[in-house]
Amino acid sequence: MEIDLGLTFDNSYAEELEGFYVACQGDRAPSPELVKLNAPLAENIGLTNTDSGELATVFSGSDAPIGASSLAQVYAGHQFGGFTPQLGDGRALLLGEVLDKQGNRLDLQLKGSGPTTFSRRGDGKAVLGAVLREYIMSEAMHALNIPTTRALAVVTTGESIMRSQFLPGAVLTRIASSHLRVGTFQFFSARGEQDKVKQLADYAIARHYPELKESQQPYLDFICAVRDKQAELVAKWLLVGFVHGVMNTDNMTISGETIDYGPCAFVDNYDTNAVFSSIDEQGRYSYNNQPVIAQWNLARLAETLLPLINDDRDEAITQATEAVTGFWDKFHHFWLTGMRAKLGLSTAMETDLALCEQLLETMSGQEVDFTQLFRQLASDLASGNSESQTLFKDAEKFNLWRDSWLARLAQESLSTPDRVEMMNGVNPLYIPRNHLVEHAIDAAEQEGDLQPFEKLIAVLATPYTPQVDADDYAKPAPESFGRYTTYCGT
Ligand code: AMP
Ligand code: MG
Ligand code: MG
Repeated sequence: MEIDLGLTFDNSYAEELEGFYVACQGDRAPSPELVKLNAPLAENIGLTNTDSGELATVFSGSDAPIGASSLAQVYAGHQFGGFTPQLGDGRALLLGEVLDKQGNRLDLQLKGSGPTTFSRRGDGKAVLGAVLREYIMSEAMHALNIPTTRALAVVTTGESIMRSQFLPGAVLTRIASSHLRVGTFQFFSARGEQDKVKQLADYAIARHYPELKESQQPYLDFICAVRDKQAELVAKWLLVGFVHGVMNTDNMTISGETIDYGPCAFVDNYDTNAVFSSIDEQGRYSYNNQPVIAQWNLARLAETLLPLINDDRDEAITQATEAVTGFWDKFHHFWLTGMRAKLGLSTAMETDLALCEQLLETMSGQEVDFTQLFRQLASDLASGNSESQTLFKDAEKFNLWRDSWLARLAQESLSTPDRVEMMNGVNPLYIPRNHLVEHAIDAAEQEGDLQPFEKLIAVLATPYTPQVDADDYAKPAPESFGRYTTYCGT
């Protein structure tokens, strides 16, 4: 049965990229139930159907919405540095594309709706905890103004799924500006299908970087455009203490959106080596290594485009290398711009980089809460107190840095209230702290209680503004929470 959601589909991937996917359907869920609908997002894409029974069957993959042409995309990827020539959507189903009210083209994708041609040894399913986790994390990132896929709906399927124990099965409906990945290019390049790489690049340019269509060197400029988006994205991750956790090339988008919320987490205490993923034993995807990896992934994208850049391979390599190397300037630019705002600097001075780096150096090994510190710096400015030092083990060291920061601020004419407002507008009070996320997931998974999840996403939706009855949401994890570990593929 096909169900009318009120959506108008326009499925360019299915129509223009035959051979880049396998058409398929979701499994029929035994008893689908709508657990959550993201109402503002639904409204923005023109979803008018309000029948929760119908929404549950569509968003579990059991029934197709009118206008969809569902498919699993093929891609390859470097996973932890090793190349896998075929991955693909093993538990995801692209329903199709819709245009939102601003005219943006968006993918509508189910995650956990059953096996596909690309499932390999996996069951094609997802469990409620992991689905709620992606919902919380991606919507939090969106509220933090970080480009990301978004969460539209959560449905439980009525199935029990075997993981380390039996857990409730669920499906996430995800929205993305596309699901084109570095790994999509790698799949065709590795098979020597250069015509397909070109077709894909032309599609990606038309969809994400249409201004490049007229360029003299569209494919080189395409690398630069993806580079700039990724440099900005990773800078934003570092500025809020986000660790993605599995930056494989199949999890790096061409659009510059954060994708694949598996083992990600936010740091509480500032720690350049922070790793949460149970399988990232070498720290390949640690907090500070993220820009290094983004550039490495970009080089893998550039490799697939070499034949399109220049007939002379050596020339192509020189040009592509220069484009990829340019990542660092871009990254540092976005990072420093972001740090200036975090520290309330309204002008740019030569010495700012050193000031920012000295702060990080001062924070290192101090077990200082990354999120709290920047809010506290602003409160201290407002009150004239010096509470920030209490966050440090070595207060003296911090106070030295603070003196140079205050001296720097004195070189600007911005009023203190304006500066405090500026800082509080970029430094979140609330982030999805690991203990809060785990509590929300446990309550839902173990007791069917969705209240902690609802409250958490409500708080995280306005992360810069203090909210009533939300003091605990701004606090670090209790000592008893211990070390936090995250898992892939749940
Ligand atoms: P990820 O590490 O989440 O990027 O996943 C890597 C690959 O494994 C992708 O091709 C996924 O579609 C696939 N995959 C992950 N979990 C499952 C699962 N439970 N069943 C089938 N495929 C999966
Ligand atoms: Mg993935
Ligand atoms: Mg995943």
